[in-house]
Amino acid sequence: MSEYDPDNIFAKILRGEIPSTSVYEDDETLAFMDIMPRTDGHLLVIPKTPCRNLLDASPEQLTAVMSTVQKLAKAVVQAFDADGVTVQQFNEAAGGQEVFHLHFHILPRQEGVAMRPPGNMGDFDLIAKHAEKVKAALA
Ligand code: 5GP
Repeated sequence: MSEYDPDNIFAKILRGEIPSTSVYEDDETLAFMDIMPRTDGHLLVIPKTPCRNLLDASPEQLTAVMSTVQKLAKAVVQAFDADGVTVQQFNEAAGGQEVFHLHFHILPRQEGVAMRPPGNMGDFDLIAKHAEKVKAALA
């Protein structure tokens, strides 16, 4: 497996070098909106410390991230009055991973509504509105 690349896009977000629409942070984790949302409210949870994915993460990183994943899963269900929530996580290119800093996708789901195809840039104003709904649910 390759080494962690400190110039991956999520490392740049953590350093504030590129913008993101964050909805939650604590000492160990950050949650922010996915720029290409596959459902309304699609967001990502990452550890603040470096690791590529599940294969090199420490138990401490996983514990912190999973706690935030649960917090945000509950928040999106409330915010979007969702019928369910899909949590996705990919490891290495062969496993579908594109950004090599551990992240979990949180996707609120409505009964009978399919996820949109990947790779389509979202509307920034709409993403910002959805972020506000998540933050209100967390408050
Ligand atoms: P994965 O590595 O799990 O396959 O997917 C990476 C995810 O990161 C994709 O859902 C993609 O839309 C999202 N993404 C890629 N670049 C950016 C970015 O610059 N900002 C944000 N917020 N999300 C990004």
